[in-house]
Amino acid sequence: MSDYNLNVSHPWQNYINGQWVDNPEKIPVYDPATEKLIAEVARAGQAEVDMAVAAARACHEKGEWKGVRPIERGRKVMGMGKYLMDNLDEMARVLCIDSGKPLDQAVTEVTSSARFFEYYGSHADKMEGTSIPLGDGYVDFTVYEPFGVTAHVVPWNYPLECAVRSVAAALATGNTVIIKSPELDPLTAYYLADAAEAVGLPDGVLNILCGYGHEAGAALVSHPGVDQIVFTGSVGTGQSIMHAAADRVIPTVMELGGKSAGIVFPDANLDYLVEQAKWGIFMNSGQVCSAMSRMVVHRSYMDEVVETLADVTSNLTMGHGLEGHFVNALISNNQLERVQEYVNVGKNEAEMIIGGSMADREGYFMQPTIFTNVQSGSRIEQEEIFGPVLSVIPFDDEEEAIAIANNSDYGLCAGIFTNDLNKAMRAARDLKAGQIYVNEWWAGGVETPFGGYKKSGFGREKGLAAMMNYVQTKNVGIKILP
Ligand code: NAD
Repeated sequence: MSDYNLNVSHPWQNYINGQWVDNPEKIPVYDPATEKLIAEVARAGQAEVDMAVAAARACHEKGEWKGVRPIERGRKVMGMGKYLMDNLDEMARVLCIDSGKPLDQAVTEVTSSARFFEYYGSHADKMEGTSIPLGDGYVDFTVYEPFGVTAHVVPWNYPLECAVRSVAAALATGNTVIIKSPELDPLTAYYLADAAEAVGLPDGVLNILCGYGHEAGAALVSHPGVDQIVFTGSVGTGQSIMHAAADRVIPTVMELGGKSAGIVFPDANLDYLVEQAKWGIFMNSGQVCSAMSRMVVHRSYMDEVVETLADVTSNLTMGHGLEGHFVNALISNNQLERVQEYVNVGKNEAEMIIGGSMADREGYFMQPTIFTNVQSGSRIEQEEIFGPVLSVIPFDDEEEAIAIANNSDYGLCAGIFTNDLNKAMRAARDLKAGQIYVNEWWAGGVETPFGGYKKSGFGREKGLAAMMNYVQTKNVGIKILP
């Protein structure tokens, strides 16, 4: 049996104005695979939020970060990525124990987080404005200015990457940052403070708070000193944050939930498709906003696809993330119970092929579950379960497949598996989602804009487009006097 202890000594405290700030009140953090306490972190509340906002505001107003030459700012942001790569082994191990995800997926998360720092840092000096022709008597140009204090409220399923993808762009464009890390798995966020110190960010540029959503989260998003909010999480929380932002008329980016569909035509290669589906729905035990939680399969192909996928699924091993298993624990007992409730609903709505219950072992493990002959419009087909549960829905013609895929309140991602280029292009045109995948679920990466249509949110993360979230445009018009 492996040693599942963290085996690291790190201050699990709020990081404000370049200092670790403790609090006798703690938030307990558990390993979801063993249910054991692994850390107690200092709890942030209104007082810590006030301190962090004051620090970030003062730093911004003094120009200590926005005033740094973009090339120098970019170097520091890129340096934070290097810090992550230099500490990859420790961070990945901590992330694995903290979030429950398999170690190889934790390595990927740390590595792609480092990429965000590299990608956005290298663009800090490329935020070029435009020159606008008003005629001989004028010079007119635009500049992009940072908003100021940006708040980043982060979910637990990708606690490091979801923080870094917005923080890296916000820093590169000259903003100061306050992270509200997820209370269920906050540990890797603290390493961003170490990265900030390693590259010499001025005090107050980066602040990290761990607190409960209704407490620190709500205090942060309604704070009068915050200029912009990036939220990644559920629709309900997003709505309450949008209300708080509306009260103060400040911009938000909303990265919300998903119920994404992959359409499968009979010409799709079976083995390749099944491998894609295995990752698409069961990676991180389905706790992925962009998971392929719906598979819309041509009726003539459905039984063969489902049978082969069930076979592959039955061979997936389950266990602690450190031990190289594919199926990992869900984040908490609440999440496990929520997924089990949906599976119980599904048993009355569709035909269950495999899975169906919590695993009989320690930790919050759920068996990967597949439902077939699912009706479009049923609850398990419409609602975000956020667990290892796949709904397979049959279709008879292309038009119906697109209609089923689009029959959702969400519109985060959609995909199509076919060798017919015209079919793929028609689907890419007609599917209502922010990212479309042809023949590879999650084709794309740090460089490709990601975000939702419909209730999946608005604004884009990733790609150069996301840098525009963190700047406001100023136009300067000059009359040339004779
Ligand atoms: P959640 O909405 O419960 O919590 C997200 C964050 O918001 C946490 O840090 C939480 O503490 C905080 N929070 C909760 N209530 C708050 C409030 N009133 N004010 C301010 N902050 C508050 O979501 P979750 O359960 O952590 O994450 C799962 C959800 O996130 C799923 O719906 C998933 O699809 C979505 N998600 C979306 C993306 C994306 O990029 N679109 C990525 C990852 C997760």
